[in-house]
Amino acid sequence: MQLRCYNCHRPFSLSRDAIYAALDKVAAENLTHYDVPCPHCRRVNRVSPKELRRAAPNWKEPTSDKE
Ligand SMILES: [Zn+2]
Repeated sequence: MQLRCYNCHRPFSLSRDAIYAALDKVAAENLTHYDVPCPHCRRVNRVSPKELRRAAPNWKEPTSDKE
């Protein structure tokens, strides 16, 4: 997934593993966005779950099968 930093305007990519981890975190903590630090300037970029899901269409929301 390619992102462009809002601060320094340089492109950087998010690996599929990172996207899956982000989606897990968003689902677990019920977040409205995910913070991705720019590798160039370290500013945090906000990515919406919708964008993450588009980049990882096979991701499934974790189901709590405990209890
Ligand atoms: Zn940046």
